[in-house]
Amino acid sequence: SAEQWGPYRPALTRAFEAEGLDVELVTEVEDPATVDYIVHSPSGPIRDFTPYTGAKAVLSLWAGVEEIVGNATLTQPLVRMVDAGLTEGMVEWVTGHVLRHHLGMDDHILNQDGTWRPVAPPLARQRRVALLGLGALGSAVGQALAALNFQVTGWSRSAHEVPGLQCLSGDEGLEATLKGADFVILLLPLTPQTIDVMNARTMALPTRGAVILNPGRGPLIDDAALLKALEDGQIGHATLDVFRTEPLPPEHPFWAHPKVTVTPHIASETRPVTAALAIAANIRRSEDGEPMMHVVDRARGY
Ligand code: NDP
Repeated sequence: SAEQWGPYRPALTRAFEAEGLDVELVTEVEDPATVDYIVHSPSGPIRDFTPYTGAKAVLSLWAGVEEIVGNATLTQPLVRMVDAGLTEGMVEWVTGHVLRHHLGMDDHILNQDGTWRPVAPPLARQRRVALLGLGALGSAVGQALAALNFQVTGWSRSAHEVPGLQCLSGDEGLEATLKGADFVILLLPLTPQTIDVMNARTMALPTRGAVILNPGRGPLIDDAALLKALEDGQIGHATLDVFRTEPLPPEHPFWAHPKVTVTPHIASETRPVTAALAIAANIRRSEDGEPMMHVVDRARGY
């Protein structure tokens, strides 16, 4: 129904028109075998892709595909969402939360008590940022922070070059990236290799009192190790957008923890207008026999 496509209906209609595509948007079909493309959200109804025998691709509305990548019934190419709006939103969330801690904003906002404390913060050029993940989101975030003069070291699975950033990869790369960092930003996908990447050992590497920002996925952090590191002062603050269980249960210790900021998985969201452009461009490529962009590598899991 029109309601189910919501704001995606007008956005997709315009984007398909612009690509010269004649597409009918449907939610319920009598014969699933007639469907050419599936636009997928983890909150949507499709769990079993078997009946969609004619589908040429599944286009995820989400950037993170951990919930669908292992689905054995999914045999079609899986495309993840890379959307200009999603990227911009993530750059804003990370930059805002880094600047909050860098400038010590809480001291002034929460402690306005008539005492004049003229302590200026250091410049960004004196702060080291460890950025785990140099993909669509990580590289944009890294460049935004580098443009503010933060010293950014990025880490990825394969070697990368991102202007303005020092880029490292591999196990030794992780250690060198984290060592002495004032900020640790997690923008890795959730895979068997990235679970608990921040654990008791790796959390000991940043500078004492470092701030962790996790807009990636909850299981990237060993929660018990984080609580311990916050307690003993090794980690000064954690700003977390994603959690092992979402919504974060009301009784979870993160909610009331003075050194934890919880945001409810809103670091960035897929924006219908820009996401529709990405979907339409990919379908046009597929129809023209060109390779689609951002196809997930099932073996890698992202
Ligand atoms: P990409 O796939 O573009 O980038 C992933 C990056 O992580 C790549 O640089 C990749 O390395 C690196 N990586 C993956 N596995 C490893 C590993 N084992 N060791 C080292 N590096 C690794 O993803 P995006 O940038 O688009 O998104 C990142 C994640 O952000 C998503 O998977 C999702 O979980 C999260 N997200 C959260 C949102 C929110 O609102 N909180 C919104 C959108 C996304 P390489 O480049 O070598 O492949």
